[in-house]
Amino acid sequence: MTSGPLHRIVIAGGGAGGLELAVRLGRRHGPEHVTLIDASPFHIWKPSLHEVAAGTVDIHREGLSYAMLAHDNGFRFVLGEMTGVDRQARQVSVAALRDTDGSPILPERGIPYDTLVLAIGSLGNFFNTPGAEQYAISLDTTDAAERFRLELLKIMARASIGADEATPGVVNVVIVGGGATGVELAAELHEAGHTISAYGLPGVSPQNLRITLIEGGPRILGPLPERVARAAEALLTERGVQVVADCRVSEVTRHTVAAQDKVFDADLCVWAAGIKAPALMDKLGLELNGMQQVKVDETLRTSDPDIYALGDCAAAPWRETGKTVPARAQAAHQQASYLARILSARIEGSAPPAQPFRFRDFGSLVSIGHAEGVGSLMGNLSGRKLLVEGWIARLMYGATHWSHYATVLGWWGATLRSLSRFLNRRSQPRVKLH
Ligand SMILES: Cc1cc2nc3c(=O)[nH]c(=O)nc-3n(C[C@H](O)[C@H](O)[C@H](O)COP(=O)(O)OP(=O)(O)OC[C@H]3O[C@@H](n4cnc5c(N)ncnc54)[C@H](O)[C@@H]3O)c2cc1C
Repeated sequence: MTSGPLHRIVIAGGGAGGLELAVRLGRRHGPEHVTLIDASPFHIWKPSLHEVAAGTVDIHREGLSYAMLAHDNGFRFVLGEMTGVDRQARQVSVAALRDTDGSPILPERGIPYDTLVLAIGSLGNFFNTPGAEQYAISLDTTDAAERFRLELLKIMARASIGADEATPGVVNVVIVGGGATGVELAAELHEAGHTISAYGLPGVSPQNLRITLIEGGPRILGPLPERVARAAEALLTERGVQVVADCRVSEVTRHTVAAQDKVFDADLCVWAAGIKAPALMDKLGLELNGMQQVKVDETLRTSDPDIYALGDCAAAPWRETGKTVPARAQAAHQQASYLARILSARIEGSAPPAQPFRFRDFGSLVSIGHAEGVGSLMGNLSGRKLLVEGWIARLMYGATHWSHYATVLGWWGATLRSLSRFLNRRSQPRVKLH
């Protein structure tokens, strides 16, 4: 462990990017240099949230305690929501922690920093669509995914006893947004529906869990190559998912989703049509883009030289395309590795590496349930995108998940975790039913 004069790095947000950064820095420099703040006491890799929503991943088994991660990786963990930054005093404010009955557990706190890293991710962007924020669920937090799961179970239970006379036994789920999140959720729900009805809700047959995926653009998976989108759509349609493209949602009500001249019945609506950074970003006095993401330069530094940002809450230039780096776990992971080198130099008081951050797009993989996947990978030699499908794509998708856990737990820890996940699946219901 190296240590120079005390330089305090504070990382706000322990998600795909922030946690990996805390682990890398903590292992090298120790807890007096590295503090991680997160609003949640445990970490779940966000790309698993569609599985939490479908009940195929149990947050109580999957969640990794930040306290344990901090202890094992040499950083300090502060539980609480960051509510603001006093840039003059270089101090982050963290909200008081309250019990479910409102009684205080921890008071409001100020955490001093020399360098602050913003890594607080993103939330669903409802684009001011009437009723969307009120009635649709956006899978941006573990709580939201868990709320969706419980709602789905309740609605399926009601349907199984024919509580709704108009369409007994029918449950309509509408997913707005045909990006990777919407597509993966549709496939996962299809599989979960089979399992739930097999476990004793006989009134609801899998065919009666009607899943509709609505996409505003001309096709699903817009940023991915067309043949990947075609393959994904074919797999979804085979599973009975109704895919509706070129259809812009104009209103969500308690039981319907309206789009142009169509109205879809919706017992549950999931909003996966875009993201924006949390409203807190607006309070920091830093330069933002239209999605509230803080603008950073090619070293991931904001307009304040002591504040960096990474992941979904940052708008980093992607020089090769003239766009900003996409909001993906792959980007957050690469940014965390890059910033670990820059911030290590800050801690050590040495010159930072001269090269700017370069996002390398390795392609995208989309899981279609537990046995299938589709995606495109960048061919290293050809530079072209290669189509991958079937169980190979699914396996490679699983490997990206494993690689995040290998970074934070070590490869042995990640392998044991995968093994225990596999064994649990054989001794527990495939879908969490309570
Ligand atoms: C269902 C779903 C599926 C996805 N699938 C993929 C995929 O297959 N591949 C891919 O590349 N990307 C995928 N993504 C996108 C990917 O999850 C994000 O791009 C990635 O997680 C961004 O990482 P991050 O570190 O910026 O933020 P996050 O991983 O979202 O982490 C943000 C952290 O900040 C914490 N936080 C937020 N606000 C505060 C606050 N005020 N104070 C303290 N803590 C705070 C949160 O608790 C969280 O731990 C998916 C996203 C979703 C929702």
